[in-house]
Amino acid sequence: MKEINFRKIRKAMEKTLDARRYEHTLGVEYTAAALAMRYGESIRNAQLAGLLHDCAKCLTDEKKLSICEKHNIAVSEIEKRNPFLLHAKAGSYLAMKKYHVNDADVINAILNHTTGRPGMSLLEKIIFTADYIEPGRNQAPNLDKIRRMAFEDLDRALVMILEDTLAYLKDTGGEMDPMTEKTYEYYCNKMGNTVS
Ligand code: FE
Ligand code: FE
Repeated sequence: MKEINFRKIRKAMEKTLDARRYEHTLGVEYTAAALAMRYGESIRNAQLAGLLHDCAKCLTDEKKLSICEKHNIAVSEIEKRNPFLLHAKAGSYLAMKKYHVNDADVINAILNHTTGRPGMSLLEKIIFTADYIEPGRNQAPNLDKIRRMAFEDLDRALVMILEDTLAYLKDTGGEMDPMTEKTYEYYCNKMGNTVS
């Protein structure tokens, strides 16, 4: 595998992201690395996907939309109304074209980091989870429990995260991407409905 210049990518992220989002990105990078150690995933891929997962987060809505339109990336009605949701799609595109990532699993982990999807790869699960539990996060309920669970049973941690995310969206009246619900149902079934 080609040597990845992490320092260069970190510098690029520091430039394109605001300070808060950059701190979050570093948190996701090392949390993903720790989860990779725990579950036997490529540590480098986890770091790379963690570093780049929000690379499109601080672009304007217009820019995110235009990246998708220009490159024939489908934009759903929900995404049109809530363009921040597009940072995953736009980000996975930039990861390929601008940051020259050619590992499909890394690209997918960036693409699916906000909603998850049924049948995620180990790396996708790691990035989805690291995004939620990195040390800079402090708003979500049950964080202590979910953080512990992430290192015990990753699928169970996923279900807890999705459950809290769906509850939060319901509470706040936030619009929900139907994929979040699909992912939740898939992993609930996979757990044999033993979720509390
Ligand atoms: Fe994100
Ligand atoms: Fe994030």
